[in-house]
Amino acid sequence: MSFITNLWKQPKITRPVRSLRPKKNAITDDYVLSKTVLGVGVNGKVLACTSKKTGEKHALKVLRDVPKARREVDLHWRACVSDYIVDIVDVYENSFGGQKCLLVVMECMEGGELFTRIQEHSEHPFTEREAASVARQICAALSHLHHLNLAHRDLKPENLLYKSKARDSVLKLTDFGFAKEVTSKMQTPCYTPYYVAPEVLGPEKYDKSCDMWSLGVILYILLCGYPPFYSASGAAISPGMKRRIRLGQYTYPDAEWKSVSSEVKQMISGLLRTDPAERLSMEQVLCHAWITGQGVVHPQEPLMSARVLAEESHMWEETQEEMAHALATMRVDTDKVTRVKEMDTIANPMLERRRKKQNVDAKTPAGSVGSPV
Ligand code: ADP
Repeated sequence: MSFITNLWKQPKITRPVRSLRPKKNAITDDYVLSKTVLGVGVNGKVLACTSKKTGEKHALKVLRDVPKARREVDLHWRACVSDYIVDIVDVYENSFGGQKCLLVVMECMEGGELFTRIQEHSEHPFTEREAASVARQICAALSHLHHLNLAHRDLKPENLLYKSKARDSVLKLTDFGFAKEVTSKMQTPCYTPYYVAPEVLGPEKYDKSCDMWSLGVILYILLCGYPPFYSASGAAISPGMKRRIRLGQYTYPDAEWKSVSSEVKQMISGLLRTDPAERLSMEQVLCHAWITGQGVVHPQEPLMSARVLAEESHMWEETQEEMAHALATMRVDTDKVTRVKEMDTIANPMLERRRKKQNVDAKTPAGSVGSPV
């Protein structure tokens, strides 16, 4: 049993699962806040701060205290017992100018985002062996989440951060803004179909399958430097890209893919299946030869990804936007989608009449009404 398969069976828990209890004292009692911006997300800036007790640098994310933010912090808090998920150190609920806020103090990820780093190191050869190591870390984070019955639903390159600038630094997953607890309580859910197949899969597998699609896109970029769903000529992302995503139209152009192993191409194809019911699950990926490394010799030739990422960096924003769009389309909030009502609770006059008739029939002894005998 390999390292990664064990992770699935027994997620790496570094400390006990804790329940979230935001501190009510002022964050400034415990931290010195700085104006240094570590990154910008949809909720605003992530700033640096320093612990007064330890002198350690941390990252601070400020969210308006609304139910959605509570859910995000709660799921992140539950998930971050893994080595591959950005750790939450403290959470405060403080008010600023009458506005209630949640202040999330996280470990500081000083190594930056996944692809920025690969692009910055374009002078170092980035090989398939290294790509497999990156993939294993993403898989470790995802398998941990899926094991806890959580789906991330926003797995994008900008949510994968390196702990430090060191070459062997660990890569971790963050941003639980779209994460969702998925349960398999409803065995045979009936949904009004909106996107593909949630009605076939059920919410649990459907939500997790979004993460598997993202994993496929990230691995594709990791191996060649550009996302799938470009036009065959490698032209800029066009308005037709959405259609290609939906139809699963992509290729492995020879220029960048010739020396890439067939195993990883086969795995990516399994992850990019348009029908979520056919898409590889986390369990299947963890057993895949390219991930376990069993019987696969990762080619030693440097991949084209670092060079392409550096040369095509002007395209990166578009790539991120398109991935965010595609994910937004896939996030079917099954709790909000109209459920086909159960037959016994439905208000349907015809059914009402039939039910009344059945009741009368049941109460009436056989043969007592209208019986000729
Ligand atoms: P949002 O939910 O508002 O999109 P994110 O959690 O994705 O915010 O963070 C936005 C950006 O801030 C990230 O892409 C990253 O560059 C930076 N960032 C987030 N968390 C950390 C952290 N713990 N350490 C360092 N930088 C971070």
